[in-house]
Amino acid sequence: MNPKAEVILFPKHARQPRQFRQWLASILQTFQEHLGRQGLKLTRQREEILRALMAAERHLGIDELYLSLKRQDPSIGRATIFRTIKLLQECGLVAEVGSSNGRSKFELKADRPHHDHMICVECGRITEFQSPMMERFQDGAIRRHGFVALWHRHEIFGRCRDCLKRRPRG
Ligand SMILES: [Zn+2]
Ligand SMILES: [Zn+2]
Repeated sequence: MNPKAEVILFPKHARQPRQFRQWLASILQTFQEHLGRQGLKLTRQREEILRALMAAERHLGIDELYLSLKRQDPSIGRATIFRTIKLLQECGLVAEVGSSNGRSKFELKADRPHHDHMICVECGRITEFQSPMMERFQDGAIRRHGFVALWHRHEIFGRCRDCLKRRPRG
């Protein structure tokens, strides 16, 4: 695995070619159904954007997606990417992640295990982590407040190991 990869928590089937095809088909179907309800179609560009997020090894911002997609499809525009990501979020396939400069990044959410993020304010690296204990504490707090949670996002901002090595006094 690429040591620079940030997006690391995947279901096993995402890494096996035969099962991957099925997975892709079911994700495309979810997206297509959501688009259909809005009277929209799964265009080639919308599919390209979803596939780019499925293949991404990093959490990607609109600009990064735009620059990488533009290489294979010069007709793609930032506005299309922006709107497509909104549509993908609406149907739960993609989630928003914060970043050190306030510009949102995005990641595939479909079938990936719940996780949270540590965000380096120096180099921007986003580390995925899971903490079952933290989730349990949180569930308790939610119950005590009679609150019904729909989703949550933990983001811890700080300095990653590599940046601390470079600048130990942070
Ligand atoms: Zn860093
Ligand atoms: Zn993530």
